Amino acid sequence: VKIRHRVDAIAPHEKCVVVCDLASGRSWRESYDHLLIATGSQPIDPELPGREAAGIFPIKNLAGGIALRRELDAREIRRVVVVGAGYIGLEMVENLLLRGLEVTVVEQGNQVLPLLAPELAAQVEQAVAAGGAALHLGKPLLGYEMKNGRVSGVATDKQSLPADLVVLGMGVRPSSELAEAAGIELGIKKAIRTDKRMATSSHGIWAAGDCAESYHVIDGRPYYLPLGTVANRHGRAAGANIAGDRVDYGGTAGTAVTRTCGAEVGMTGLLEKELRESGIEVVSETVQSRTRSGYFPGAGPIAVRLTADAASGRILGGQIVGGEGAAKRIDVVAVAVQSGLTAAQMSELDLGYAPPFSPVWDPVVIAARQLSKKL
Ligand SMILES: Cc1cc2nc3c(=O)[nH]c(=O)nc-3n(C[C@H](O)[C@H](O)[C@H](O)COP(=O)(O)OP(=O)(O)OC[C@H]3O[C@@H](n4cnc5c(N)ncnc54)[C@H](O)[C@@H]3O)c2cc1C
Repeated sequence: VKIRHRVDAIAPHEKCVVVCDLASGRSWRESYDHLLIATGSQPIDPELPGREAAGIFPIKNLAGGIALRRELDAREIRRVVVVGAGYIGLEMVENLLLRGLEVTVVEQGNQVLPLLAPELAAQVEQAVAAGGAALHLGKPLLGYEMKNGRVSGVATDKQSLPADLVVLGMGVRPSSELAEAAGIELGIKKAIRTDKRMATSSHGIWAAGDCAESYHVIDGRPYYLPLGTVANRHGRAAGANIAGDRVDYGGTAGTAVTRTCGAEVGMTGLLEKELRESGIEVVSETVQSRTRSGYFPGAGPIAVRLTADAASGRILGGQIVGGEGAAKRIDVVAVAVQSGLTAAQMSELDLGYAPPFSPVWDPVVIAARQLSKKL
């Protein structure tokens, strides 16, 4: 294992990589029989006016989180602007509020968590506002304001907002430059294209994780989901194949969970928009229920939205927003999506019940039953 070493180029015909020792600056060629590209992704951080100001933090990894915390500990920081209301931005909001900071969220879209159905996103927005953050939706970031070399605010198309520190959560893009320069085929969002074994278009070169494209379990479409869950499953398949086994990556269902300001969120499957764009007619239903038996202490609200193919009744997606215990219920929906259950079959699932965990009818089962009535 060579830490503090960077690969600067891949030479597929010579079967070697150019490696630079970052401590000494020395470069050399390292040969391989198989090469796995697992270069991850990078936070989107556009070169907007004022970007050179100190105090702007893209959150990329643990080191980035530690650097941000050090800055908060070391300086008099009161007002923080978080740019981007995706899951990383909103998880940062929760933690910044816990530190007693004044938090403002700037998001170019008209809702938080762009993949959520608007009615569910509205519930997350309520939780974030109740937690004390100010939400500025539909406002693209145009640049940063600066005083004495430090960030002092952000400019949107409508106004400028003061900030002692800015956190960026504008999404990520695959780190696929090395692969592209080596002539390896890229796919959607410039992620490295692979077959089901995680082999790239170049013989002996494999790719896994945030730098690599996936395919969707529902219809096999190319799909990009930069999550640790996908990365681990990619890596397992790629490793097995490199070691001489024959393993196919099982596909991505699009399952993700997050939490902000007490609102838990889960989602899986394809979006209604994506399905309609593919010419699939869908039916959706949202139900409101409780996370525990209504009389049990700590019972919170939960909204479950399920989507099915109008023709076959097959469950194609689901989204959940609610209090403690809500998000991981999406795993039941993920199993339904991945194993091709219909709404009627899902409504017959024998799920566990006791008052601290759910009402007698679990909210996901209630949603499946209501949806099957509409089909
Ligand atoms: C703040 C945050 C929170 C997250 N929370 C979740 C979560 O709750 N659940 C979840 O499923 N996912 C989460 N993720 C996503 C998850 O971290 C990634 O999907 C996962 O780390 C991807 O793994 P990877 O191995 O592909 O890439 P990485 O973990 O990014 O590793 C890539 C490595 O390659 C190195 N590298 C890149 N280029 C080169 C080069 N040229 N030479 C040498 N080395 C190189 C990098 O330095 C890095 O160490 C989160 C991500 C962030 C940023």
